[in-house]
Parts: sequence; C-alpha cells; structure tokens
Amino acid sequence: MNPIRCCIACKSRKNKSELTRIVINEDGKPIIDREQKINSRGIYICKDKKCIENIKKAIKKKKLKLKINIDEDSLLKLLEELGEEIWEN
Ligand SMILES: [Zn+2]
Repeated sequence: MNPIRCCIACKSRKNKSELTRIVINEDGKPIIDREQKINSRGIYICKDKKCIENIKKAIKKKKLKLKINIDEDSLLKLLEELGEEIWEN
C-alpha cells in the first residue's frame, strides 16, 4: 500500500505517487525529489497548476506557513520550473 500525504496547497490527502515531493536540505533549500527516495524532511504538492500557483501567490504575499524552515525565494523559483513542466505535459 502506498502512503497517503497531504498537499501543502489544497490540503487534500492523496496517494504519495500522485504528488510531487520537495525535500528541504539543511540550508532550507528545496529540491524536487523525483524518485521520492531522499531521506530528508519534505513537503508535497499536487501535480496541478492550480496548487502550484496558489503556493506561489502565498509566498509572494508572505503568507506561506509551513512547519518547516524553507528558503522561500528558492521555493518560488523551483515552483516556477515545476509549473512549466506540468504545462508542457
Ligand atoms: Zn493540491
């Protein structure tokens, strides 16, 4: 059975494989964990343009609240890349 995780944007609970995993390294820098195998703290987001846009908006308004220390500028950049990928697919 696949573990269930929660999207940081829409808060819906989904199968881990339906979400994109982003891990945060010691400096608070986010990395996309495509294989979902990096042993580190992570956050999950739907493979959905809307969820990505909502988080980007929250960051720009300084309203992103996560229980994990994260470099928000880097996260913003990473989400932009992720959004483009989804757009292309
Ligand atoms: Zn979502």
